[in-house]
Amino acid sequence: MTRLRRAAAITATLFTVGMPVAAWAEPNPAADPNSCPYKVSTPPAVDSSEVPKAGDPPQPLPVPASAVGGDALSGCGVIVAAGTETRRIVEPLGVNLPMRSPPGLLVTTRPLPRLFDRLILLPDLHVRQLPDGALLAGTSFTGEETDEPPEAQAEALVQRIRDMIAGAENAELGHWTVGYRPVPEDGFPVIGRPGRIGGLYIATMHSGVTLAPVVGELVAREVIDGTRDPLLAPFGPDRFQDN
Ligand SMILES: Cc1cc2nc3c(=O)[nH]c(=O)nc-3n(C[C@H](O)[C@H](O)[C@H](O)COP(=O)(O)OP(=O)(O)OC[C@H]3O[C@@H](n4cnc5c(N)ncnc54)[C@H](O)[C@@H]3O)c2cc1C
Repeated sequence: MTRLRRAAAITATLFTVGMPVAAWAEPNPAADPNSCPYKVSTPPAVDSSEVPKAGDPPQPLPVPASAVGGDALSGCGVIVAAGTETRRIVEPLGVNLPMRSPPGLLVTTRPLPRLFDRLILLPDLHVRQLPDGALLAGTSFTGEETDEPPEAQAEALVQRIRDMIAGAENAELGHWTVGYRPVPEDGFPVIGRPGRIGGLYIATMHSGVTLAPVVGELVAREVIDGTRDPLLAPFGPDRFQDN
């Protein structure tokens, strides 16, 4: 539990993504975790630029002139865990990180009477019933590129629900969403420090929800103590580096 709290604290403290990386990630291979402040508690915001404000529409936060967290904290490095955006952020720094972003369609039906209280996994269909009675369903776990418009895919998925779920014969489409999965080219997580740029730590992967408890703990340990768990050995970012 203590470790998890430390993980949460370090994550909240150091997770800085986007432009600040390009602006501040000076090569600093000697980033010493022992000299890093805020190892166990999140620092207060340095200035108002760190406090997101609701906008209409929301505007991107400005990149502040000085490092978020102050000079001491920025010396500890930057963790990029930006999902599908990770590649775009680290490649300008010279880190080769090939990724795919296969789409994933989810449909939600209009509410139905209570039918089941488990997750149902079938070929080409996984579905559960939400508290309001709507069925939430998806197709493949890995994502597939397709030219078929999402509206048509959504209708087809609802038809599959009607065909396969007893009691859902009259299901109607409520709404659909398409999410993009962060999938490194070889399908495996990318977790660790690239050799060619100091002060940078990358963590991006698919099945990041399932993996979150263990990855959160292992990343926190490496960032805080400098100890890299052997489990992470195959997943370093340098496996994509040509030289
Ligand atoms: C349809 C679908 C179904 C999935 N099903 C499963 C499943 O069943 N099990 C499973 O384990 N995984 C599943 N996944 C994958 C899972 O969602 C991801 O692996 C996981 O979300 C990755 O977590 P993350 O924190 O690394 O990245 P993300 O969840 O993508 O979070 C990255 C965050 O960084 C933010 N960000 C990006 N760029 C910037 C920037 N420049 N500045 C500031 N913020 C930025 C984004 O807004 C986002 O909030 C699914 C994905 C999809 C799309």
